[in-house]
Amino acid sequence: MSLVDAGFPVRIPSKLNALCPQLISQGAEALVFVVEDESKQKFIAKYRPPKPYRIPELDGPLRKRRTTAEARVMQKLAQNNVRVPSLLSVEPQLGMLYMELIAGHRTLKQATWEAPQVETVISYYRELGAAIERMHNLSIVHGDLTTSNVMLTLEKQIAIIDFGLSSQSASIEDKAVDIYVLERAIQSTHPSDAEYLMRVLLEGYVSEGAKIQDEKQDLVLQRAEKVRQRGRKRTMLG
Ligand code: AMP
Repeated sequence: MSLVDAGFPVRIPSKLNALCPQLISQGAEALVFVVEDESKQKFIAKYRPPKPYRIPELDGPLRKRRTTAEARVMQKLAQNNVRVPSLLSVEPQLGMLYMELIAGHRTLKQATWEAPQVETVISYYRELGAAIERMHNLSIVHGDLTTSNVMLTLEKQIAIIDFGLSSQSASIEDKAVDIYVLERAIQSTHPSDAEYLMRVLLEGYVSEGAKIQDEKQDLVLQRAEKVRQRGRKRTMLG
């Protein structure tokens, strides 16, 4: 039975429909499906459906552009030692991205919540800090860093996902905001351990920066402090 037949409101490309799609996430921009090929190999399909409220002449190119941009970022990161799901194929015209399924369906957020002691997950945070630094050194900002957008592989590595809001940017401010957004997310999801988790994450960021001789990392962290102060002032003023 197709998803439309099942009452699902979005018409999805027929090729996708043939892959027994199972919807696992529905965001504002995209639908994420687990699909399987003839050999029962599972993978992920991310689909940006047309938006009925956008003019079709603008909607098509916009979906195409965003799909291509996301694919480019994923490819660049994978080529440069930042673990992300490997890209299998892209159909920009349809707004489709096919990628590796990170098996286990475990996010860093879940792992942190379920950890008997925070020490058991702390190495992931150091690793994440190092991965973010490598990403920033490539002039890529994620745009929506949270512990839900970090998955744990079966080999107990981290893999960063969801580059839908990512952009190419060498700006210190954009990188600082990336760090700040993650800090806020960690504070809200893991309040009692947030300070410790962020300290270790930033240690990973700094030591990776020193290792790969990124001269900008100190500036990013100094700017992150300024962004933090701006955020605090805004909260105080309401
Ligand atoms: P996204 O819209 O890319 O954030 O994906 C939404 C959700 O789908 C994520 O929170 C994950 O639970 C899941 N997901 C996305 N990509 C993958 C992947 N490559 N492997 C496994 N699960 C994924």
